[in-house]
Parts: sequence; C-alpha cells; structure tokens
Amino acid sequence: MVEHTSNFIKNIIKEDLESGKRDKVVTRFPPEPNGYLHIGHAKSIVLNFDLADDFHGKTNLRFDDTNPLKEDTEFVESIKEDVKWLGYDWDGLFFASDYFDTMYEKAVLLINKNLAYVDDLSADEIREYRGTLTEPGKESPFRNRSVEENLELFTRMRNGEFGNGEKVLRAKIDMSSPNINLRDPVMYRIAHATHHNTGDKWCIYPMYSFAHPLEDAIEGVTHSICTIEFEDQRPLYNWFIEKCEMESQPQQIEFGRLNVTNTVMSKRKLKQLVDEGFVDGWDDPRMPTISGLRRRGYTPEAIRTFCRELGVAKTTGTVDSRMLDHFVREDLKLKVPRTMGIIKPLKVVITNYPEDQVEMLDAEINPENPEMGTRQIPFSREIYIEQDDFMEDPPKKYFRLFPGNEVRLKHAYFIKCEDVIKDSDGNIIEIHCTYDPETKSGTGFTGRKVKGTIHWVDAKHAVPAEFRLYEPLILDDVVNEDEEAVEKTFLDLVNPQSLEILQGFVEPNMKEVKVQDKFQFFRHGYFNVDPKHTTSDHLVFNLIVSLKSSFKL
Ligand code: ATP
Ligand code: MG
Repeated sequence: MVEHTSNFIKNIIKEDLESGKRDKVVTRFPPEPNGYLHIGHAKSIVLNFDLADDFHGKTNLRFDDTNPLKEDTEFVESIKEDVKWLGYDWDGLFFASDYFDTMYEKAVLLINKNLAYVDDLSADEIREYRGTLTEPGKESPFRNRSVEENLELFTRMRNGEFGNGEKVLRAKIDMSSPNINLRDPVMYRIAHATHHNTGDKWCIYPMYSFAHPLEDAIEGVTHSICTIEFEDQRPLYNWFIEKCEMESQPQQIEFGRLNVTNTVMSKRKLKQLVDEGFVDGWDDPRMPTISGLRRRGYTPEAIRTFCRELGVAKTTGTVDSRMLDHFVREDLKLKVPRTMGIIKPLKVVITNYPEDQVEMLDAEINPENPEMGTRQIPFSREIYIEQDDFMEDPPKKYFRLFPGNEVRLKHAYFIKCEDVIKDSDGNIIEIHCTYDPETKSGTGFTGRKVKGTIHWVDAKHAVPAEFRLYEPLILDDVVNEDEEAVEKTFLDLVNPQSLEILQGFVEPNMKEVKVQDKFQFFRHGYFNVDPKHTTSDHLVFNLIVSLKSSFKL
C-alpha cells in the first residue's frame, strides 16, 4: 500500500480514529448518472479512494439517481468504466434508488413526528415565501396541517393522485433561520416519469438534500466528502440524520472544487457542447471528460498524479491545464516508443543514392530507456521531411534545410540541398539533395559538424497516417471562475481552431499498432492511436501533448 500525501481531510480522519470517534473509514463516490465524468470528478474519485486506502477502509461507488428526468443507464455504464480505468475498484456498488422504500418510511416518520408536511404552494410561491439572506421567510398556509392529514396526502401523492408540481413534502424546520437551507426545504416532489432503475414504481422522488444524508447513513459511510458549495447544507444534512433516527452518523466534510483553465467543467455545459455539435461526442479528445482524456491519450497514472499533487483545499481553485500536460509527459517519457512521423510532408530525392537500394538503419526505441531495445528503419532514395524543415530563403539562424545547406537526418546521413523543383505555378514539388555515405549515424563520423537535425520517413515504405492536432477548446483561461457571469458567453468562447486534421506519414513498423497505443514522435510530441477513427487501413493519431511547455511547476 502506498501512503498518499497528507491533506486536511486525512488529518480529520486520523484524529477521528485516534480519539476513538470512529473505528473504521468508509467513503463513497456519489455521481449522479446524468452525464459523463470529467476531470473534476477524477479529483473526487482519487481523494475518496486514496483516503480509504490510507486507513484500510472501504469506498463505495454510489449512483445518486434520484432524478428520473435526467438520468440514464448509458451514463451508469460509462461512469463504471471510467472509475475502473482510473485504476479504482469499489467495495460496494449502490444506487440511491435502491433505498427509495427506506426513504419513504423515513419521510413518514418525520410526518409522524410533526417534522414534515405536505404543501400545496407552487414552486414559485415556495421560492417567494422562502425570503432572502436579509429577510426571514414566511410560513406556508399549509404548514400546520395535522399529522393525519399529512399522512393521508403523502400517501395520495405516492399513489399518483396528483399531477407534477401540485404538492410537495417539506421538512418543518424554521422559516426564519439565517440559513436559508433550513427554511422548510422540500423533501419530496411529484414527477410522473419512468426511472432507469425503478421503472414506474414511484411517482414521487426524494430531493438531494434529504436523500443524500440517508444514503450515506444507510451505507455506513463515515466521512462524506463533498464540494464546498454544500457547506451551508451541513446543518440540514445533520438534521435529517438526527431526526430520521439513522443508526449510523456520517460526517460531511467539504473541499474546494477543481476547475481547469481553458475548459468548462459542469456536466450541463459539457452536454451543451455535445448537443450543439461543437465536439463529436462526450469522448471528443478536446473534452475534459475522462473518456475524452482517455481517447486523447492521457493516462490514468498522469491523471492520478495530477489530482494528488494539487492537494486538497477548502476553496475552489482554477488549475493551469498545462500542469496535467506536465504529468502526462513525465509518465510517458520512459514508457513509450519514440518514432518519426511527418505531419506536413515534403518529398526529398537523394540524387546520388542508388535507385533500387534500400538499407535498414538501426535506431533505439527510446534512448532514455535502453531496455526497450532497437528498431530497424528503411532508408532509400526518396524520403519525406516536414515542410517546415525547408526554407528557400531562410532568415538568419535557420539551421534546417535550405539551398546549399547540409543537415543531419536523424538515425541516417547528412544531406545537402542542391536543387528545388517547382511546378509551373511556382509551388515547390520536391527537393533534390545529395548525401554523404561517410556520415552514417552510429559510425562515429567526426569529419564535420552540422547545426540542424531533422526527422524523415522513407517514401517508398511510409505508412499514410492522419494526425489530429488539438488546441484548447475554450479560448479564455478562466471560464469557470464565475459560473453565473459566463453563463451567456461560454459558447462564444469556444475556440474555432481547436482541431486541425493533417495527412502525413509514419514509419513502416507502425503498421502493427493498436488503438490506444502511445508514441513520442520525434520533435512533435506524444500521440495516441485514436480508437474511434482508426481502421485497419487508416491510422489516426491524436496529439496528446507537444514535447515542451513553457509551464514551470
Ligand atoms: P457537475 O456540476 O459537473 O454536474 P456535480 O457535482 O453535479 O458536477 P455529481 O455527479 O453530483 O456532479 O458529482 C459526484 C461527485 O463528484 C460529488 O461528490 C462532487 O462533489 C464531485 N465533483 C464534481 N465536480 C467536481 C469538481 N469540479 N471538483 C471536485 N469534485 C467534483
Ligand atoms: Mg449534479
């Protein structure tokens, strides 16, 4: 077992165990299955599972499925897949909807204790009666119904005798509480809708603030970790646990939400990007979803390290997305093969190389990890180089190929540009070079030096490949900082150039690759074989990250 770094929640748990307040640790990750998981969820997953792991405890995966209108089995399955992919095994797998009977009984208990009542006010009226931060709320005219009447009406709500919104069940707490959450919050609402798990069994559904504490208590969760916006709900959480006479007493602890620069995080906004066609699905490689990051080529290791290194704060913070890039580079550096790929091809003919000759050159698979061995690369008279590695009229300090200049071809020979061949419109068609057989890589040639080393692939043996290059999806750094303020504008901030698709070539041994295989393309960056668009005769590589970043940790 690895001990993970300390944070304030871990310290609370440690004290609880030392003082004897608790004798075990049970945490949970409680997503609502109304969308795909994103990197913010990863933070919560890593936190909950690591905490339990540190104290030999347990972590449940619990679907908080109390809203039939938004939830779907598709999301349940994707969430399970994503949690597993991140490297975690849950102890219990639960659905909040499995507890609907218990929740109903507890609601009846509260009615019997005169702590809950059926209210006929509309949603708008309830909002109006609730008051504001500076003004107390007003009591509903239905607040003092008798226990008998409330029991009868609640039974009739359950039996489907009323339409959506006609009645609700509310907790009877305190309409003048300074904490608005305690001003008789709604516990149950009517929704004639089919639930993905319970079908048409219910037409009343518990609200989050009532359901969540009960779910935690039923499962024996000891530390219920949630994001900071629930801080003001903690007294209500504790009220329901106490008044519902739950045997187990979970403790709610809040931490700051994770936001990342140049993206949006809420499922609602992500869904909008999908529904309005800005991206090609929840798993589009530009999305901050776990499935998007996976398809892009990020690794679970890098995501876990990122989440851990961020630490746990009490306030919401926005983290530079380049920090995640840093960890993926660190993770892939020694693990993945290095290879050469040409993204924007320019043909080079080596005029003094024998017409029919092909030689195999030796190259290390990863010079930083010699254990990965060597590979063989064919070399012959025609090769492709990058268009960017040639300039007809170069500026000063341009050390790559230009007429009269000599460069090193990685793993091969020095070549010198002798001629530029153009079509009748003046477009460059190909470059003619000569090579010097003495300069073969690995032979220890020291006769002269060149300043530029460029990559290439052999034209005859090259495998065509598609490269998908990505830029941030959202142009502004901090869309997430103020959710409300950006509400109208986040779609305006979508980067129209977030995807560039180019057709190039890779080394012939790349014919063998499988989807999700990762490579470092020399001088370009790390790439992942795209699982959606790659077919047996069409290779597609997603840019994960470029090689360098200006970001310092
Ligand atoms: P969203 O607004 O994206 O829908 P949510 O909080 O409604 O997020 P849930 O499915 O309810 O999503 O969240 C499951 C768990 O993940 C919760 O415990 C929640 O606190 C946590 N979580 C969600 N987003 C973040 C985030 N950005 N940072 C940290 N934890 C998060
Ligand atoms: Mg939610």
